[in-house]
Amino acid sequence: MQTQKLYDTDSYLRDFTAKVLSCTPLPDADNRRDGAKFGVILNETAFFPEGGGQTADTGNLGSAVVIDVQEKDGEIVHLVDTELEVGSLVRGVLNWQERFRKMQNHTGEHLVSGIVHTQFGYDNVGFHLGTDGVTVDFSGVLNEAELRFVEYIANRVVGLNVPVTVSYPTPEECEKLDYRSKLDLTEGVRIVTIEGWDCCACCAPHVSRTGAVGGVKLLSSESWKGGVRVHMLCGLDAFDDYRKRTEQTKRISNLLSVPQLETADAVEHLLKSLSDEKEESARLRRTLLELKISALKQTDGDLVIFDNDLDANALRSLANAGVKRCSGVCAVFSGCDGEGYRYIIGSESTPMRGWGKAFNTELNGKGGGSDAMIQGTVQAAEKDIRAFFAR
Ligand SMILES: [Zn+2]
Repeated sequence: MQTQKLYDTDSYLRDFTAKVLSCTPLPDADNRRDGAKFGVILNETAFFPEGGGQTADTGNLGSAVVIDVQEKDGEIVHLVDTELEVGSLVRGVLNWQERFRKMQNHTGEHLVSGIVHTQFGYDNVGFHLGTDGVTVDFSGVLNEAELRFVEYIANRVVGLNVPVTVSYPTPEECEKLDYRSKLDLTEGVRIVTIEGWDCCACCAPHVSRTGAVGGVKLLSSESWKGGVRVHMLCGLDAFDDYRKRTEQTKRISNLLSVPQLETADAVEHLLKSLSDEKEESARLRRTLLELKISALKQTDGDLVIFDNDLDANALRSLANAGVKRCSGVCAVFSGCDGEGYRYIIGSESTPMRGWGKAFNTELNGKGGGSDAMIQGTVQAAEKDIRAFFAR
């Protein structure tokens, strides 16, 4: 059952009628992803199966939804949600928006790869085209300026609107032909040519002229296995991405009350002043702690201090100073009645370990330490804690 691949010769075909040659229930749960229940083989199809880095077309076959299309053992299997009658004629309709965007991105990718190959001699060694965007891996490093140059040339070629053609050279022609992704075999090789700019073996559907790519945007790049991975988008996908970025810039611009093209400088300035404020805040906290420590009075008996906002260091510094200013126990608490308190308690006269056990048992606390100092948390109200000390 060899299905005729209609997309090979007409990439713009989005609506066709075909005969159902077989419809088989999918055997295991693995194949039943996203609601697919049957595998359908047709006599001919315009649905491009997943392959060569590109995800499959989706759409409808008669009353069934085409969820995925896979090529298995030379057969093109449409994974659908509903059973179709074997022998019947069904109308196939592609999700054209999705397919056309893939064609824009795929032709754009060939164009970029062709330019990189000609100008820098690097090969395309990896390609991914999915709903999450397009990535292309090159065998050599391209810096920012070089990527801008490639993007500029690519968009010039989009404007030139040159033809994109598909051909099947004879084995003799194939042998002599210089094209990217050169295959070992010479029979049935499908060559996609962007006139004057690129020649590459590829089985995917492409737009018919570069103008239909719409535009090429290289978004970012990163080091990748000794070369570079480029994130790119073309046509409508690039335009959607541009809209999202504009919305972000607009929001930042409104929040900071600066023109849209000055947002980065404004954020840099904002981060600098935030860092200055943090430094100043830390300095004030240190001063406040010093004042709190110097305000501690020499006390006969216990010294009990409550504070709502002491960090671990401040809690310890205050407890260390307090222990020296009292003859009994110095206890420092930080927190509030609702959430409980962190504490450090010490004494130069009372062994804290035994004392702490009684304290934790009575006030629902947790913690421990040495005979000189204990620390922990307690879930009790300030008045109950003070009452404990008053006894
Ligand atoms: Zn390709």
